[in-house]
Amino acid sequence: MKILVTGGAGFIGSAVIRHIIKNTRDEVVNLDKLTYAGNLESLAEVSDSSRYAFEQVDICNRTEVDRVLREHQPDAIMHLAAESHVDRSIDGPADFIETNIVGTYTMLEAVRQYWQALEAERSQNFRFHHISTDEVYGDLDGPENLFTEQTPYAPSSPYSASKASSDHLVRAWHRTYGLPVLVTNCSNNYGPYHFPEKLIPLIILNALEGKSLPVYGKGEQVRDWLFVEDHARALYQVVSKGTPGETYNIGGHNELQNIQVVNKICDLLEELVPDKLPGLDHYQDLITHVADRPGHDLRYAIDASKIERELGWIPMETFESGLRKTVEWYLENRNWCKKVRDGRYERKGLAQN
Ligand code: NAD
Repeated sequence: MKILVTGGAGFIGSAVIRHIIKNTRDEVVNLDKLTYAGNLESLAEVSDSSRYAFEQVDICNRTEVDRVLREHQPDAIMHLAAESHVDRSIDGPADFIETNIVGTYTMLEAVRQYWQALEAERSQNFRFHHISTDEVYGDLDGPENLFTEQTPYAPSSPYSASKASSDHLVRAWHRTYGLPVLVTNCSNNYGPYHFPEKLIPLIILNALEGKSLPVYGKGEQVRDWLFVEDHARALYQVVSKGTPGETYNIGGHNELQNIQVVNKICDLLEELVPDKLPGLDHYQDLITHVADRPGHDLRYAIDASKIERELGWIPMETFESGLRKTVEWYLENRNWCKKVRDGRYERKGLAQN
């Protein structure tokens, strides 16, 4: 297969590309605009491969998307390009509407035209895989409830509303035009190469630098955490074995309150980096509770039994093993962090998924 990955320079997209190049014989074309969140250094391990190509293109630019499809002739699209940070969507929703909704529409129209012109066998095997989030389902009410593929959409933030819109467009292009789409909705990812505005990397780096560890409200928000390499494997299973028209929820069976996550990171740092900056006794002392995010959902949790049953995927990492790998990676890759860090977020200092 030749797979076109949009957003391949981002956190999850780069994990998907590293997975495909290292573990399959497929070819990959990475289509990415390289916003603040895109970083080609995340692909350094695989970018010399003859099976990898990069195109710096905005998914909203139809002419350029058409050119890439014409020149590279992919067999499948994995669509990950998006604005992905909830806090940024609250500060300025416009980019989220443009990239997540208009950009997905532009991809769908370009891909529909390309797919309709393919000869019969290639057209039958073609797939458009849209990568989405569990945040489209909104807040879970009871502690026993889980998001299934049938849970109605109730997004709360501009980010999750823009992702919900794009999911609806993708499903409509299947129903109306027969485009062979697959949709996946995944819980919070964590792991190496995560941009340090997100909760886990920000807490690790702030703790090492003796800065405050900001936690929204009491930190009681519950999220289900999945190691990014487990997500990348799941996505490859779906694009290569999933049934067109179907949705698959992906999760890690790791429900934790944000404050528990922050405490676990502090505990690991006590073990791995016991020598702290002068005057700091415990990393936990840096925890600072800040005013809660508007519209903040209290709990997300995923029922991932469909992908486990139908495609045989299960996560390989527990939260303990994945978090240890993640903290160790950030300790060994401080240069990567320095290069990608954005001044605005360092000043603002807020951290969440
Ligand atoms: P990210 O912000 O790390 O990366 C996004 C990538 O998309 C970047 O490389 C960026 O340059 C690129 N991009 C942004 N706008 C673009 C445009 N207009 N044209 C082309 N490229 C553009 O995001 P991520 O965390 O890797 O998330 C990837 C996808 O997975 C998103 O669709 C997100 O909604 C979804 N998702 C993320 C999580 C998570 O926990 N991070 C969980 C579930 C689903």
